[in-house]
Amino acid sequence: MPTSNDQDREKRVIGLYGEMRLAMELHQQGWQVYRAYIDDKFDFVIMKCFCYICQEYTNALQRERRYNGRNAKTVTNLCETCHNDSIRMLVRFIQVKTSEGEPRPVPNEKAFSFHPKIRYHLADGRVFYAWVQVWDEDNVNYFIFRTKDVERFDNITLAT
Ligand SMILES: [Zn+2]
Repeated sequence: MPTSNDQDREKRVIGLYGEMRLAMELHQQGWQVYRAYIDDKFDFVIMKCFCYICQEYTNALQRERRYNGRNAKTVTNLCETCHNDSIRMLVRFIQVKTSEGEPRPVPNEKAFSFHPKIRYHLADGRVFYAWVQVWDEDNVNYFIFRTKDVERFDNITLAT
């Protein structure tokens, strides 16, 4: 019979797995993903650049030159495509919650619950929850929503 220590360990492992999958997914969509050095409020801070002249996501131009006989690599504030000073850094804050579904008597059905350990009552529209549903290794669903939408499906009368 699994002890509560085993269950805690399993929860931590599934949590890390969900974060890793989400980080890879976000990275594939062009986001830089940063993890907190001291985690207090958010799991990830993610960042992407948008050029308002090109009207598309871009990267900051990175320059590499010889300077005084040495290589000098610099990240500039210029758009990589049009070389104008026209990029805006988009920053979002993400709290990740991972659920591994409980098998149900019905085939191909699992019960998932969403009940975050931390709630946010922030008017800041840059804060999001990412709910990662792990069905199996090949099937992971991501639901990303604003923190104010939590009460639409979480039982907020329960303790966090
Ligand atoms: Zn541009």
